[in-house]
Amino acid sequence: MTKILIPNETNSRERRVSATPEAVKKLKSLGCNVYVEKSAGKLSGFSDLSYEDAEGEIFSSQNANIWGDADLVFCVQSPSEDNLHKLKKGAILLGLLNPYGNHDLLEIIKSNQISTLSLELLPRISRAQSSDVLSSQANIAGYKAVLLAASELDRYFPMLMTAAGTVQPAKVVVLGGGVAGLQAVATAKRLGAIVFVSDIRQAVKEQVESLGARFIELPETDEKPGEAGGYAKTVTPEFLAKQKTTLTKYLSEADVAICTAQVLGKRAPVLIDSQMLEKMRPGAVVIDLAVSQGGNCEGAKSNETIIKNGVKLIGAGELPSTVPHDASTLYAKNLTSLITPFIKNGVINLDKEDELISGCLLSDEGVILQNKVFEN
Ligand code: NAD
Repeated sequence: MTKILIPNETNSRERRVSATPEAVKKLKSLGCNVYVEKSAGKLSGFSDLSYEDAEGEIFSSQNANIWGDADLVFCVQSPSEDNLHKLKKGAILLGLLNPYGNHDLLEIIKSNQISTLSLELLPRISRAQSSDVLSSQANIAGYKAVLLAASELDRYFPMLMTAAGTVQPAKVVVLGGGVAGLQAVATAKRLGAIVFVSDIRQAVKEQVESLGARFIELPETDEKPGEAGGYAKTVTPEFLAKQKTTLTKYLSEADVAICTAQVLGKRAPVLIDSQMLEKMRPGAVVIDLAVSQGGNCEGAKSNETIIKNGVKLIGAGELPSTVPHDASTLYAKNLTSLITPFIKNGVINLDKEDELISGCLLSDEGVILQNKVFEN
């Protein structure tokens, strides 16, 4: 029987868990044995008892052999190096492994000959939608970014007509109209703001307008920003300079900027530099969701709020973890949906020809299969 491990997360800021009791029940129904580390679900609102009710076995960190016996390990972020070293040859690790340029992880994978499914690499095709962790978590990030901005802003979001006068609606600029950006647009619109969006993929214009926001037209240049597999490619410095000139006007009138622009596997584009930030009004709020990829706003730092000329710049790369119950529920569903087709009578057998598996199989028994992760 496949032994599946649901460990505590090691990053102290991580509040999500990789499997909920419902997911454990599903894995049990497939014939697997599931071991859940004591308190693994505590920060996301799932008690040890609820895992036991789902027929998971609770283990403590003192159980020295449990990592060495595991066939499959679920995680949100990569486990500690210590625990990774305990995994046996051929054990499978499944989670958000942050593979790009992560040389320490890649070395352990090779030396311990483990197999890894890195969910950042899952192809964004229709069949993958139920397993698409990036989308389920980006949706949460976009929603929470707007709530955070609204609570930090010195103004209302909606227009209000009161006996003491009329309050004008807040102006929100969203940079990047992917999954997080579109959810930020929808949330800001629900709160009554006027929303503008910049993206370099022309397809985003229609999506943004259908949500009642305004698309910031791209600069007139000979260069047409590239796309590959639905993802944006890095634009040239010349294009970026022209884009920033256009954005400066919108940002100088904005109350809030939500930064979500990213280029898969590359540094995020810097769309707000220091001079542009200086032109924003004191009291304005910038939430940078791209901060772990370097940030869209110059000077943004992860989990820090920096005040520059009265503008609050918040580096918020870990927002899904601040909505841990729903984030874990969706995450766990994504993971079970990905592996369920490959478990028969309690035994896991990954089909390496399958498009989803081959897309996110970072390593097979220690052999790194995705050279793109070495590129940056
Ligand atoms: P992402 O997080 O990689 O990037 C966010 C946004 O930033 C993108 O819209 C991108 O175009 C934009 N961006 C990049 N450089 C920019 C710049 N200089 N200025 C402004 N914006 C810039 O994207 P994502 O949210 O993960 O979505 C990527 C693509 O995948 C989209 O086309 C999306 O519709 C598609 N998608 C497909 C599926 C599926 O079919 N399973 C699921 C989710 C997303």
